Amino acid sequence: MITLTDISKSFVSQGSQSHALKNLSLSIHKEEIVGIVGQSGSGKSTLLRLINGLEFPDTGTIIVNDRDLNKLNRTALRKHRQEIGMIFQHFNLLENQTVRQNISLPLTLQHNKSEEKVDNLLTFVNLKDKANHYPNELSGGEKQRVAIARSLILEPAVLLCDEPTSALDETHSQEIIQLLKNIHQSFGTTIIFVSHELDVVKSLCQRVAILDHGKLLDTIKIKPSLDKTIGDRTYYQQALAR
Ligand code: ATP
Ligand code: MG
Repeated sequence: MITLTDISKSFVSQGSQSHALKNLSLSIHKEEIVGIVGQSGSGKSTLLRLINGLEFPDTGTIIVNDRDLNKLNRTALRKHRQEIGMIFQHFNLLENQTVRQNISLPLTLQHNKSEEKVDNLLTFVNLKDKANHYPNELSGGEKQRVAIARSLILEPAVLLCDEPTSALDETHSQEIIQLLKNIHQSFGTTIIFVSHELDVVKSLCQRVAILDHGKLLDTIKIKPSLDKTIGDRTYYQQALAR
């Protein structure tokens, strides 16, 4: 579904050039949940920005759903961006807009007023009673749930997550991970999840790509999570019984 082939991307800032990504190739399957880990500056956010067409590679190709991003015209690129949801560490909500207005923003920009869709998503992220609240009246976890609902409103096939739990405490972080699992299960959304928190990555992702100074160091398959139920026993019980 997403294929990056021999991607390189560098930035020039204040006269010096930094190589954000170097000859990176990676394929992500439809409905897969892939983690991206690596030290600060290893190119994780750049990789997400390339996939949703906010940046373009210096060399290499990116194919998303059979579309070569280098070859899209402006209209096709706008359509591509709408089909990809994105959430961030600091939520990026509009502070002077209510929860409902934040969630419906992508629809409003399309002159579409589907209140029913907004209501369904408010229920899905369990924020119906906060619909008319403003972001500064919400906890971090609630703000991220608003951002997630907003990212889903145009029914994206892919959800890009740039450290969405890094600003949250353990409880809220778990809540967001559970919500992402529900999204994957309910809609079959392909999820690319950037994080520094390896435990979180292991509990959510099926495969993890490790970046190191802009290069793909390795990809690792994650074993089924310990709480995965096999029949009426958990994986953990099974493993211990062996
Ligand atoms: P972090 O974990 O700190 O978020 P990251 O892995 O997401 O880091 P990127 O933000 O992708 O890293 O940055 C990779 C490299 O590219 C860094 O050296 C960064 O300084 C550089 N870079 C990224 N975006 C730009 C930009 N717009 N202009 C100049 N340099 C940039
Ligand atoms: Mg980053």
